[in-house]
Amino acid sequence: MAAFAGARYGVLGWPVGHSRSPAMMRAAGLERYQRLPVAPEVFGDTVRALGGAGFHGANVTIPHKEAALALATKATDAAREIGAANTLTFGSDGSIAADNTDAPGLLAAIGSRPASALVLGAGGSARAVIWALIEAGADVAVWNRTPERAEGLGARVVEQPVAAEVLVNCTSVGLDDLSNPFKDLPIDADGLDNYSTVIDLVYRPGGTALVLEAERRGVSTIDGVEILVCQGALSYSIWSGRPAPLDVMRAAARHEAPEDDRG
Ligand code: NAP
Repeated sequence: MAAFAGARYGVLGWPVGHSRSPAMMRAAGLERYQRLPVAPEVFGDTVRALGGAGFHGANVTIPHKEAALALATKATDAAREIGAANTLTFGSDGSIAADNTDAPGLLAAIGSRPASALVLGAGGSARAVIWALIEAGADVAVWNRTPERAEGLGARVVEQPVAAEVLVNCTSVGLDDLSNPFKDLPIDADGLDNYSTVIDLVYRPGGTALVLEAERRGVSTIDGVEILVCQGALSYSIWSGRPAPLDVMRAAARHEAPEDDRG
């Protein structure tokens, strides 16, 4: 445990100043967990040096998840099939193991296996979400502003929203503009009644307009902070071999973030 807890950890991103992972992971006991702002052009060299610099693990966020998988010396089937890694573990032999906890983190947050889902978006997070939902046996439809980008992800591409058990917003819509959350999405407020649960990967202080509107209508919701906590808890368990202190991590991740603190 001493080697695990005393080791160095971090979150690799560019930029990464907004990340809530350091607060969450330090609260869980990884006291030497830090932000690792790394530009894409030096990502490979930097990450390959982390093990020798005393790092045991790192989370990976935008825009490095695909590069993280590419440089790993071994990877789980999930990371390979999704095509991205968000968790790296550095071995004493110089190995770099890649995993993807975004996918099982989503299912952990949902807490059940939904029969059907509509996913909005076809970027990095949508790939993991679609993979997880299909693995869980769901019938998955995907809508994206640029439809051709949604092809080949394993889900049915739709041009109009379809009713489903869960709606998952994997677009970045809602991050900044609170005035009209539906302006750039194919659904409107009334359309939220077509879903039992609304999940928004985006999060911001005070909640996103999508989640707030769903709550107002009595639709069950899961916000982006809960998704972050669930994927982070799985990374913690990979590094420690033990269950994560979920309540402590959740409280730290939700602790009053400044207005521009998100991601
Ligand atoms: P990404 O790879 O850059 O994909 C962005 C997606 O948003 C694409 O589908 C893009 O559509 C769509 N989009 C952007 N602006 C849009 C607009 N104005 N109207 C309609 N669609 C728009 O990003 P990502 O990694 O998937 O992340 C997406 C969001 O999820 C980000 O806000 C990120 O912070 C959040 N996220 C949260 C967590 C968490 O733990 N809570 C984890 C991962 C990501 P096009 O293909 O048409 O460009």
